[in-house]
Amino acid sequence: MDPEFNGLEALEDRIRQELGFLNYPPTNWVKPVAGPDGEPALDVAIIGGGMCGMAVAFGLKREGIRKFRIFDAADKGFEGPWMTTARMKTLRSPKHLTGPHMGLPNLTFQAWYRAQWGDEGWQALGYIPREVWMDYLRWYRHILSIRTENNVRLQKITPQDGLLRLHLTGPEGGFEVMSRRLVLATGRAAFGGTRLPGVFRDVPTKFIAHTEDEIDFAALKGKRLLVVGGAASAVDSAAAALEAGAKEVHLLMRAREIPRLNKFKNTVYPGYFRGFSSLDDETRWRFLHHGLSSRVAAPRLSMLRLKEFDNFHIHTGVEVTSARERDNRICLGTRDRTFDGDFVILGTGYAIDVREQPELAPFSEDILLWQDCFTPPAEIANAELGRFPYLGPGFELLEKNKGKASFLNRIHLFNAATTLSHAAVSSDIPGVNIGAERLVNTLAVQFFTEGKDQHLQDFYDYDEPELLGDEWRDEELS
Ligand SMILES: Cc1cc2nc3c(=O)[nH]c(=O)nc-3n(C[C@H](O)[C@H](O)[C@H](O)COP(=O)(O)OP(=O)(O)OC[C@H]3O[C@@H](n4cnc5c(N)ncnc54)[C@H](O)[C@@H]3O)c2cc1C
Repeated sequence: MDPEFNGLEALEDRIRQELGFLNYPPTNWVKPVAGPDGEPALDVAIIGGGMCGMAVAFGLKREGIRKFRIFDAADKGFEGPWMTTARMKTLRSPKHLTGPHMGLPNLTFQAWYRAQWGDEGWQALGYIPREVWMDYLRWYRHILSIRTENNVRLQKITPQDGLLRLHLTGPEGGFEVMSRRLVLATGRAAFGGTRLPGVFRDVPTKFIAHTEDEIDFAALKGKRLLVVGGAASAVDSAAAALEAGAKEVHLLMRAREIPRLNKFKNTVYPGYFRGFSSLDDETRWRFLHHGLSSRVAAPRLSMLRLKEFDNFHIHTGVEVTSARERDNRICLGTRDRTFDGDFVILGTGYAIDVREQPELAPFSEDILLWQDCFTPPAEIANAELGRFPYLGPGFELLEKNKGKASFLNRIHLFNAATTLSHAAVSSDIPGVNIGAERLVNTLAVQFFTEGKDQHLQDFYDYDEPELLGDEWRDEELS
């Protein structure tokens, strides 16, 4: 999409001016802590340079916490799902969502869009095309000078001397950094990867992909495709395959009827985002349990995308009980029938299982989970919710047994796994400002309190005179 006129420069000037009014960026005030080699450790390492990681980075810089680095495994400008594994045409949330503005109106998506396409363009815009949203995020990074080190992956974490040693791999091979705090802004599949139901475990990879995988839709032309799942990503993948010329697409969903509600749409308001983490455990659990067990409907636009295809079929009430290869095809068995196809796409969502999360798995026995500290009444039992991490007020991991793994509270999850402890303030667009603000506030408090002796000593040592002695006349003194 070509902008009709370019008001972006003027917008950028306004933002620079506003940041200037806020004395941005203030000088660093955090007391350095040396690593084992005597060099100062990072104060914060952020893994993930998508929307959440960038919002935290901006927040830190604005608070004068400047010694941080951001690493992302993806190519520059391709962070997050938007240009890779997302198959919807537009965002699922409405266009007036404000994005990671962190309190600056000129940083909103709307300001950015209007600056280029004008008021009329804004009125004409329905939902935000996902490529346009990615462009906005790229611009956000540019205007705030957020320096992300791309193609760098966190592999392992080793606690050492009260710090965290991070083992990373980048274009030039492996390297390590020491950091006081680690923020995992690692997105959706961040606490156990994708959910792969047991029946699919042994299916050869040439027959199967998860919606989180890169999929060559062109190769599905003329093929019969089976899509398992009924939520957004399954439906969008079905549509992408049909548009790429698939011969037939069968969507197999467990629900007996097509889900029509997305209960979580009713949680998008400041009270929920700000107050959720202060609720008692049972109420938090009830919210999530009810929302998830009501089954989340696919977005209306995604479903409409499928409607025009006569070669698309929805099968409800289907529980796949077996999956095997036969005559170079894949057969999915259910209680009363078999579906066969050339390829299967699993839209089965994300797992919550820390044992499957490479960088956290070594500590899986030590990380406090909800199942360790809350037993729900029988009618709302939910094994998956039990596997969510039970986080502290600053998104930090907590240890299961006191004193055994205290380094865990230096690791802050700022991804989708925080939802049961904090609501969707570190995953979805509407809540990200509130989440980033909360995390940055926590980190500022922690750095100050950890450095309290030095700050107090600075205070004792402070000797910059306010009065120079020439503010009064000697004869005024008696
Ligand atoms: C298909 C799809 C559509 C969505 N649509 C909407 C929507 O319409 N509205 C809405 O509010 N939300 C939506 N969401 C939810 C949410 O807004 C997105 O998931 C968004 O990308 C979250 O931003 P993030 O920064 O948390 O994660 P991401 O954008 O996923 O960024 C995480 C980054 O972490 C990096 N990373 C992960 N692990 C490592 C590692 N070990 N080392 C280095 N880097 C790593 C990844 O490369 C990635 O770039 C959608 C999500 C998906 C998947």
